[in-house]
Amino acid sequence: MGTTALVGDRQWVPLVTGGEVRRLDLDYAATAPCATQVRDAVDEILPWYGSVHRGDGFPSAVCTELQEACRESVRAFTGARPDDTVIFTRNTTDSLNLLAHALPEDCEVFGFATEHHANLLPWERRTVHRLPVPESPEHALVLLDAALAAAVRGAGGGRGSRLVTLAGASNVTGEVWPVAELARVARRYGARIAVDAAQLAPHRPLDMTGWDVDYVAFSGHKLYAPYGAGVLVGRPDWLDAAPPYLVGGGATRHVDLPTVAWAPSPQRHEAGSPNFLGNYALATACEVLHAPLRSGLVEEEERLTALLERELARIPGLCLHRMWDGRHPKVGTVTFSVRGREPGLLSAALSAEYGIAVRTGRFCAHPLVKHLLGEGHDSGSAVRASIGCGITEQDIIDFAWALARLVERGPAWSYRAEGARFVPDPDPRPMPQLRHGAQVRLRAAERREEAPRAPVGAGCGG
Ligand code: PMP
Repeated sequence: MGTTALVGDRQWVPLVTGGEVRRLDLDYAATAPCATQVRDAVDEILPWYGSVHRGDGFPSAVCTELQEACRESVRAFTGARPDDTVIFTRNTTDSLNLLAHALPEDCEVFGFATEHHANLLPWERRTVHRLPVPESPEHALVLLDAALAAAVRGAGGGRGSRLVTLAGASNVTGEVWPVAELARVARRYGARIAVDAAQLAPHRPLDMTGWDVDYVAFSGHKLYAPYGAGVLVGRPDWLDAAPPYLVGGGATRHVDLPTVAWAPSPQRHEAGSPNFLGNYALATACEVLHAPLRSGLVEEEERLTALLERELARIPGLCLHRMWDGRHPKVGTVTFSVRGREPGLLSAALSAEYGIAVRTGRFCAHPLVKHLLGEGHDSGSAVRASIGCGITEQDIIDFAWALARLVERGPAWSYRAEGARFVPDPDPRPMPQLRHGAQVRLRAAERREEAPRAPVGAGCGG
């Protein structure tokens, strides 16, 4: 899918049963592979690497110039307003914590119980109106309207600020939220709206201005740019009024203790030397994806997502989990469970015996997963497969075939439980031969030698 080439795509990986296969990565929702264009851009700039806003050498001039240009690439990608601030962070979690830190004291927060923990937990210092899992997108509008109306009628005569915060797309079900419609509801009550776009940004064009959304946050590593940067984009006023998120060099205009004059955002919240390479990688990914997201990538991904759902639905005992009925749009993420099969064992065996990477667990969205699985569910966890650039129809067919085989026959290897995860026992797969980091490699090998052994027999769950 898509024309974006990926680093490590179809790389050979070892199997516990012997030999190697070309790996199939279906875990884009956790972290996406690096786009070669992003890697090449970083390699190209490395010889020019220098301190940002901190040096007079030529590399510093180059990197300082580029760091500011990166903000413009992000601004274009998000459809932000000209006066929105673009603050570089570590990831979405960092961005949302920064926004939570910057909320006015009187701000009440509104959000659904469906959120990833990164968009569930940072707000807890404020009054939070936690809305239940809606039965449909239309129901979400009704729930939000009612909650905001009640708050406006309530104590304080509706004075004070309000923030609605929601994911653009669910990291569990891939379902896309009606962001623009929810923003309209928020506006009716004078509330602002923040979108956790960690899962939306890699799959749909963002349009902060058109949707009338105040803040957007996302991570580089889910956007084919795994160099440790994220971003918060949005209205500067609350951010400029808040104390700096981190205090230190770069966030100040002038220090004459005890007096400190803090810089406005973005510098106000970016103390310390920036992760220039990460920011550059993220901005490059924004540029690389901007056009494809507006010309064909979305449709292609929708087609493959539908194929994925159809293929999985044919597997006996497999249940696809969704919040809403199948009419509603979704990005290429599916969560499922298979009757009588331990999700962690399926996921471990897919990797160890077929070279296919998926994820198992509760996906840092425990309340939503609990809701989707229902109380009586065997393990409380599920399996998630997620697609993105580089995935083909054949990949989906291969995945469905491998899963069906595993469900039918059970694993061919033994696995032991390690917390909620399963790992092959023994695990004869050699670590990759890396040229650098000799000590790190040695320690990894020692760790594998020392691993405690409490095997679960072959065929468990099969
Ligand atoms: N929000 C959503 C919807 C996510 O899927 C994730 C990552 N799974 C996050 C926030 C947190 O992203 P990060 O780990 O990059 O901070």
